[in-house]
Amino acid sequence: MEIPVISISSPDEGPAPDDFRDHLATVDAEGKRKWVFAQRPAGKWYQARTYTSWVFFAIFFAMPFIYVQGRPLFLFNIPNARFIIFGKVFWPQDFFIFGLTMVTFIIFVILFTAAFGRLFCGWVCPQTIFMEMLFRKVEYAIEGDAAKQKLLRKAPWTTRKIFIKSFKHILFFLLAFVIANTFLSYIIGVKELWRIMSEPVSEHIGGLFSILLFSGVFYSVYAFFREQACTVVCPYGRLQSVLLDRNSMIVAYDHKRGEPRGKFTKKESIYTGDCIDCFQCVKVCPTGIDIRNGTQMECVGCTACIDACDHMMEKTGRAKGLIRYASENGISQAEPLRYTLRMKLYTGLLCVLMVILSGLLLSRKDVDATILRTPGMLFQERGKDSISNLYTIKVANKTIRQVPLSLRMEDISGNIQVIGGDPIPLKQEEEGSGTFFVVIPRNLIRERKTGIRIGLYEGNKKIDEIRTNFLGPLPDND
Ligand code: SF4
Ligand code: SF4
Repeated sequence: MEIPVISISSPDEGPAPDDFRDHLATVDAEGKRKWVFAQRPAGKWYQARTYTSWVFFAIFFAMPFIYVQGRPLFLFNIPNARFIIFGKVFWPQDFFIFGLTMVTFIIFVILFTAAFGRLFCGWVCPQTIFMEMLFRKVEYAIEGDAAKQKLLRKAPWTTRKIFIKSFKHILFFLLAFVIANTFLSYIIGVKELWRIMSEPVSEHIGGLFSILLFSGVFYSVYAFFREQACTVVCPYGRLQSVLLDRNSMIVAYDHKRGEPRGKFTKKESIYTGDCIDCFQCVKVCPTGIDIRNGTQMECVGCTACIDACDHMMEKTGRAKGLIRYASENGISQAEPLRYTLRMKLYTGLLCVLMVILSGLLLSRKDVDATILRTPGMLFQERGKDSISNLYTIKVANKTIRQVPLSLRMEDISGNIQVIGGDPIPLKQEEEGSGTFFVVIPRNLIRERKTGIRIGLYEGNKKIDEIRTNFLGPLPDND
């Protein structure tokens, strides 16, 4: 079927020239910000993202209230260096796991982005979700769609405008306040947050200041700063140029099918490409770009342009998918997006990394001990037939119960005498220390330095084993 189209705006094959890369889409020639009035998206992808955002909101707002054995499920108390992940407390001794988590995370980000592009930004990044699925929706509900927002902005400050704007900004601040409190509860816990809110102001000046500061920051970001958080500040966004390649999955315009673009009309019968130059994809874009120019750093992969273009294709009797998830190679070779071998390999590697990390987290010990021989002391004679060494033990009890810690020799007969008595009491979530002698019969010491193993027990349950050295006299040369 011939599609009637006239007014070819771009006679070239392929995307428009690269001059759009010289400036931000949201900054005019004089360097002033151009406010983005994004049109309300609609379509299957937007619907799917809306459902995803509900799951995100449920998790984000409910998580701080979930406690496991008296501890929050997650806590990231950076000021006090106290971290709880899946109900397990992480201590400074566990920082190698944190280091490994960071390395895994970086590898994860690189591989995930190389294979799946900015899927994270569009679907689960908190900035995108709060902006597009919460604040933007409130704005549509109060001020109307993009055209009405534009009109309202240009309109003089009448009582109606003052009322609408004040109402919107009060609601924005309340939402920011709720987000800020939830965010803070991930840092200090909901119980502490409740104390700040319920106890006299004078006792929690710092806490209240933090709440107001966080609320102010969130309010400013979602009310004013908006897409600039993604296009100017976010380091992940700026890394796209090095993380993506021609096989990465991105939201892409099929220039082979779409060009040369031309206005749609029923009067003419000049067939050009499938793009009817309706600018719907530009009008819905929350970062104000034209996806037809190709991959751009500002694109957060929100899929709004896919929905908008699919709608236009449907209306004009063309096949959907002129803008779709695809790779650049896929577009140039006119191939549909496939789950390629490369993606499978990366996914496999990501799974292996996750398994290693999970294994480390699960095998992490609840009681962490270090045993050192007391510096400056060699050995002591115990009568004629025994030798003793003096040790210090430092133990971190990461559990939420008291642990009575006993020490036993594991591989050599001898006994342990704890100064202050056995067992060593360890309070919940605290560090403890003790001093003890290891006494070994002289006839078992055959070397200057003998390796020994000391078992750590809670009752009869062995919880750890530490290797150390025992110093004895030089062996007789007979
Ligand atoms: S170009 Fe499309 S996917 Fe990218 S930010 Fe704009 S609307 Fe979203
Ligand atoms: S929405 Fe589709 S048809 Fe309209 S300008 Fe964008 S790419 Fe072209």
